[in-house]
Amino acid sequence: MSRAKTRLVLFDIDGTLLSSGRKGLDSFSTALRRTFGTEGDLSSYRFEGKLDPVIVLELMRGAGIPDEVILERRPAALSLYLDLLEEALAAEPPALKPGVSDLVARVTAAPAVVSALLTGNVQRGARIKLTAAGLWDRFLFGVFGDEAPRRVELGPIALARALERTGRPFSPSETVVVGDARADVECGRAIGARVVAVATGRTSVEELHAAGADTVLSSFADVESACEAILA
Ligand SMILES: [Mg+2]
Repeated sequence: MSRAKTRLVLFDIDGTLLSSGRKGLDSFSTALRRTFGTEGDLSSYRFEGKLDPVIVLELMRGAGIPDEVILERRPAALSLYLDLLEEALAAEPPALKPGVSDLVARVTAAPAVVSALLTGNVQRGARIKLTAAGLWDRFLFGVFGDEAPRRVELGPIALARALERTGRPFSPSETVVVGDARADVECGRAIGARVVAVATGRTSVEELHAAGADTVLSSFADVESACEAILA
C-alpha cells in the first residue's frame, strides 16, 4: 500500500510557470485599443494575481469608460486579445520559468498527487499559453479567471472540482497553492491551504513572506527543494 501523502496542488500560470512577456502585453494592448479606442493606463497597471476580466474593467474604468459600455464590449475585447495571443505564441512560445519543466513533471508523476490550475487567465487564455508551452495536458483540471469576480472565490471552486473529478474530498492541509503574487497567497489562505510562493514574477521574496506565504522560493531552479516544498 502506498504511504504517499495525498495532495491537491493548484498552480498559478503567469509569473509562476511561465511568462508570455511582451507578446501577452502587446496582444492585450491592441485588443483594448481596437475595442475601446484606448488601452488606459496599461503601462503602469499591476496585472499580477488579477483576473483577466477584472483587468479589462479596471483599466477601462480608469480611462473614463462607463461600466455599461465596458461590460457590453468586454467579451469582444477578450476574444480579440485571445486571437492575437494565440497567433503570437504560436510564432514564439512563452518562456518557461527556470526548473518548471522538471518540477511539473515530478509533481504530476508523484503518487497520490492531483495537479491542477488556479489562474486569473480565462480558460481559453490558459489553454493557449500552456499549449504553446507544452504543458496543457499535465493538469487534471483548472479553475479560471472567468469563473468568479474575485480570485479568492476560485479556491472553493477548485476544492469542489477536485472532489467532482476524483471522487475524493481534499482537506485544507492536503491542498497547496503555488503562485507568485500576493493574490495567490490570499487565495490559498482563504481556503486554509498551504501556500508555496515563488518570486519569479513581480513580487519580491520579502513581499511574499509579508503576505503570509508558508514557503517562499526565489525560483524553482533548485527542482529538488521546490518539489520538497510543494509535496512536504
Ligand atoms: Mg501569477
